Amino acid sequence: QSEGTLALFEELESEVRSYCRSFPAVFRKALDWTVWDREGNVYLDFFAGAGALNYGHNNARMKEKLVRYLLEDGISHSLDMATEAKERFLEKFRDVILKPRRMNYKIMFPGPTGTNAVEAALKLARKSTGRTNIIGFTNAFHGMTLGALAVTGNKYKRQGAGVPLQYAASMPYDGYLGADADTVAYLENMLNDSGSGVPMPAAVIVETLQGEGGLNAAGAGWLKRLEALCRKYGILLIIDDVQMGCGRTGPFFSFEPFGIEPDMICLSKSIGGYGLPMALMLMKPELDIWGPGEHNGTFRGNNLAFVCATEALRYWEDGEFEKEIAEKSTLLEGELKSIIARFPQLKAEWRGRGLMQGIAFPTEGLAEDVCREAFRRGLIMETSGTDSEVAKVMPPLTIDKASLKRGLRLLADSVEEAAG
Ligand code: PMP
Repeated sequence: QSEGTLALFEELESEVRSYCRSFPAVFRKALDWTVWDREGNVYLDFFAGAGALNYGHNNARMKEKLVRYLLEDGISHSLDMATEAKERFLEKFRDVILKPRRMNYKIMFPGPTGTNAVEAALKLARKSTGRTNIIGFTNAFHGMTLGALAVTGNKYKRQGAGVPLQYAASMPYDGYLGADADTVAYLENMLNDSGSGVPMPAAVIVETLQGEGGLNAAGAGWLKRLEALCRKYGILLIIDDVQMGCGRTGPFFSFEPFGIEPDMICLSKSIGGYGLPMALMLMKPELDIWGPGEHNGTFRGNNLAFVCATEALRYWEDGEFEKEIAEKSTLLEGELKSIIARFPQLKAEWRGRGLMQGIAFPTEGLAEDVCREAFRRGLIMETSGTDSEVAKVMPPLTIDKASLKRGLRLLADSVEEAAG
């Protein structure tokens, strides 16, 4: 049955479709971290909608709020007109996220997806500094629209679109030149190299952990020094927390432990709570220089997403959720390291932070084989990295420990099988 459906996609849908190739099944329903296909096969979800399902599928608390809102004919689409649902979200975001962290930011709704948040940040950085260039880093991923793509360090995604790194430079990320190389000093030298004609950039855009680019982690020291460099040259610091935000690495904002203060912050994916499209761009108040309508779009006010997002923020009302994430992260790290230790011949390496961890396999194609094997065993997992070299474990943050362990046993079996 499913084969027929997949054939229909093949006939009708563009070749660009991708996840339906990695996961050849027709899915019917999902709850929390469990997914069912049409044949009744059951899968454990270690993919979590590429980070859009931090609170799991059909989260019961959000579902109840959403159903009630629909039954009361709550407004669904509103452009950026004022609605009660938006009011409740803004109040909750102020009270639960901004205030306790003493963060002073204005909030904008740039459109439905992560790339819209990035695009808005890049545009605003250009307008507010009067400069053009943006610094992006090696292996970064920021989205698929032209601006976001231009700061994305992935040739495969960029080259066909003819997007040059003309107004973006790909600078070495923390660790890219080896543990001992000082890549911030390298960047500063580039900025001072006026002879080469590199103009002073408007902004630096960076992920604290590269979700798509191979789970490379920026260290606290590197991020602090990057921030200091930005301040020295009047460059704006944009943190792309589209994938690492909303608790993926532990705290609500991934950069919280590092004591940096970004000028702009991009959020999307799990901010909508229920897997509904929603994005935010937070900016320091002094950057709020756009006039009304200078940056707009049709889908900036998805009230169904506001309803779920407001409920999702209740997970952050006290420190309990963050504590649970930390415990599960420790468990995950221990288990992944023990899988690595069981197969020393693979020379695999642990990567990650929080509930975004993975195993990097130097053997070409092995991470993909592991994920394929995992799927056969009922575990949904994707690879990360420009060469798909990392098998990435990204369960919903709400997953219980027993299910997490069960998935990791399936992963261990898949590594054993794929390694032959
Ligand atoms: N930034 C980062 C860090 C991401 O991981 C992604 C999506 N993987 C995006 C931006 C783009 O988000 P979207 O796919 O929702 O446009």
